[in-house]
Amino acid sequence: MQALDIILIEDEDGDAGLIRYSLKFSGGEHQITWLKSLEALNRHLETLDAAADVILLDLNLPDSTGLETVSRCKSMARGTPIVVLTGHDDMDFSLKALEAGAQDYLIKNQLKAENLLRAIRYAMERHQLEYRLQQSEELMMAAIEGGNLGVWEWSLKDDSYYNSERLLENIGFYSDDPELPASASQWMERIHPDDQSAFHQALNEHFENQAKRYQCEFRLQHKKGHWVWQFASGHVVSWDSHGKPERMVGIQQDISERKAMEEQLRDLAMHDSLTGLLNRRSFMNAMNSEYGRVKRHKNYSASILMLDIDHFKKVNDTYGHAIGDELLKAFATTIADELRENDIFGRLGGEEFAILLPDTPAEGAMQVAEKVRASIEAMQVDTDGQALGITTSIGVDKLRAADNRPDGALARADTALYTAKQKGRNRVCQQADNVNENAVASE
Ligand code: GH3
Ligand code: MG
Ligand code: MG
Repeated sequence: MQALDIILIEDEDGDAGLIRYSLKFSGGEHQITWLKSLEALNRHLETLDAAADVILLDLNLPDSTGLETVSRCKSMARGTPIVVLTGHDDMDFSLKALEAGAQDYLIKNQLKAENLLRAIRYAMERHQLEYRLQQSEELMMAAIEGGNLGVWEWSLKDDSYYNSERLLENIGFYSDDPELPASASQWMERIHPDDQSAFHQALNEHFENQAKRYQCEFRLQHKKGHWVWQFASGHVVSWDSHGKPERMVGIQQDISERKAMEEQLRDLAMHDSLTGLLNRRSFMNAMNSEYGRVKRHKNYSASILMLDIDHFKKVNDTYGHAIGDELLKAFATTIADELRENDIFGRLGGEEFAILLPDTPAEGAMQVAEKVRASIEAMQVDTDGQALGITTSIGVDKLRAADNRPDGALARADTALYTAKQKGRNRVCQQADNVNENAVASE
């Protein structure tokens, strides 16, 4: 064994002699500093450059007695493991000494050199481990606080649930809040109805060992009633003898900000920045789902309008591109005001627009198109004191179950639009009149 630097705190000369004698014959040239009180320890520590390897501590000293001696000694020499020397052969007392901060204890009248060294070695190891554990706990706490994480614990046997203060704060509660949900089940009721199934699926996959940990994002109802996005992660820490989960612990984080950013990004990716209408890609997605409906339900109709502003090039050439943009925005809002909530309005590019009308047969679509055309004809946009107006041509068609391509109706409406331009603009044309529907369906 390496030579150790040992501090012995013992006021009884006889006991101290015995210990020093044991150490002397344990092998190794240990350096022993013998002190008789905590006050002496305090003075001695001030002279030290490096912490001693271990403190052997008698509990009954002139200036301190009992367990208090352990805690005081510990607060003076935080970095040094303590082995308590006690006269008691009392398990309970010894455990209390450990709880007070000692790493091990020895009963004086059973003292042998080998016991003494084993205890010292054990105390040093244990102290190292405790130190590392404390460091990793501190690191985790820093991560938890920095990440705005809350901690939860769920006892599945009695359904009791603990949320840390931080977690409660995120959802508007505090720890002795009289309105605090009393059980895990009551907490789960606060999960958004649309997120319930994903939440329970994530839990079950973990319980059935398909997932190493439970992880889920869900909306939780804030005490004030609104929804806040949460990310939760955790795992079962104990299972009963039947293999059923008994206790689970985990962390939970408020992700409202991230969700809002994701939503914003999604929104940006879906919409045209000038008019705020759906862009071509998301309009085509909407067409696809509407085609799904048309193909599934025999009696379901949906229609499409293609719009192109008349002589728009001239507007740009005469008034400039900026005023052209103003007119495009006004065009979009004027038409949006004429449409129903579930109509889908998109800018396919330039000054070409399309409107998808779910649950609308061709006759209905013609009426909407005429209303839209008239609203643009009536629109006056004030630009630098000058009122400007534009007109639009519109081609109409309906979605057909027999179309192979989702944009089949778009192509036909485009042809109808071309006809409207040909016929003198500022008018609505329908392609369906010229198409033999059965012939198309049997293609
Ligand atoms: P018509 O459709 O009646 O046949 O005539 P038009 O002049 O509208 O014909 P065309 O489709 O060839 O011209 C479209 C013009 O729209 C060309 C372009 O300058 C203008 N344009 C396209 N995108 C934008 C835009 O984002 N902002 C502005 N200000 N103008 C645009
Ligand atoms: Mg055009
Ligand atoms: Mg045009």
